[in-house]
Amino acid sequence: LERLRGKLARSRSTFGQSLLGLLGAGDLDEDSWTDVEDTLLLADLGAATTAEIISKLREELKARGVRTADEARTVLRSVLVEALHPEMDRSVRALPHESKPAVVLVVGVNGTGKTTTTGKLARVLVADGRTVLLGAADTFRAAAAEQLTTWGSRVGAEVVRGKEGADPAAVAFDAVKRGTDTGVDAVLVDTAGRLHTKTGLMDELGKVKRVAEKQATIDEVLLVLDATTGQNGLTQAKVFAEVVDVTGIVLTKLDGTAKGGIVFQVQRQLGVPVKLVGLGEGADDLAPFEPGAFVDALLG
Ligand code: GDP
Repeated sequence: LERLRGKLARSRSTFGQSLLGLLGAGDLDEDSWTDVEDTLLLADLGAATTAEIISKLREELKARGVRTADEARTVLRSVLVEALHPEMDRSVRALPHESKPAVVLVVGVNGTGKTTTTGKLARVLVADGRTVLLGAADTFRAAAAEQLTTWGSRVGAEVVRGKEGADPAAVAFDAVKRGTDTGVDAVLVDTAGRLHTKTGLMDELGKVKRVAEKQATIDEVLLVLDATTGQNGLTQAKVFAEVVDVTGIVLTKLDGTAKGGIVFQVQRQLGVPVKLVGLGEGADDLAPFEPGAFVDALLG
């Protein structure tokens, strides 16, 4: 929790602390509620989620006859945790099961942190004693395969890559086939994130998925979203979610942004849970997303 607090320092000071200050001051007048609203909007919670949280807060503060700052904090915590849908299943299905290997596609717009996330996830799995193969299916960005190869040697995972400009679907196919042949526990495929048109993306990414599926069941499609890109990033992410069946979100770059509130609206907008969060560029900067711990770090 200490580590998470440190990584979320900016969101904590602009969002968590402001809310605690406003709600802890006792009876709130309409001006104070406007300040609460502004705080939530500034942290990127979006209009709908903001309205919902405010109405819950008003209701709960009144119903419980809250007087002290401590009581207000308890109410704020429970309303925020509830807004993050703690009941959702956030497990990443990369565990070995009957039909080895588990296959994970990592999708999203270029620059959001796909390759880094793929590498970090490999690291988590290898540290847990699993064998991992990485597929470098982002063949459009010249450096992507190189970057993934570096991750591969760093964490101890074989990397299957194609020539620059090769068909991403062919690389995905080869990677899943190789992983099946060699009996690894998990194959993680880093895909290309060129978002020119929706049909272009559908052709490209849809093909990667279809072709990979010929070799093995795809267990997880992780959509990577950069927390610092706000509504624009969310709009682009939605296009990906329309093209492939996304099973989980990875919210990256939560370190150093004051816009941590985006996590409250992505699940609502995309209809899938945030499963992992990126908290830095380092190998150990990927964490499971836990609503309770996240809110505690924001308010801590
Ligand atoms: P891709 O194009 O989606 O594969 O993006 P990359 O994996 O190459 O990442 C783009 C940049 O974002 C790189 O400089 C990464 O080091 C950085 N990055 C990725 N994840 C995080 C994160 O969680 N926090 C921070 N601060 N930087 C990140």
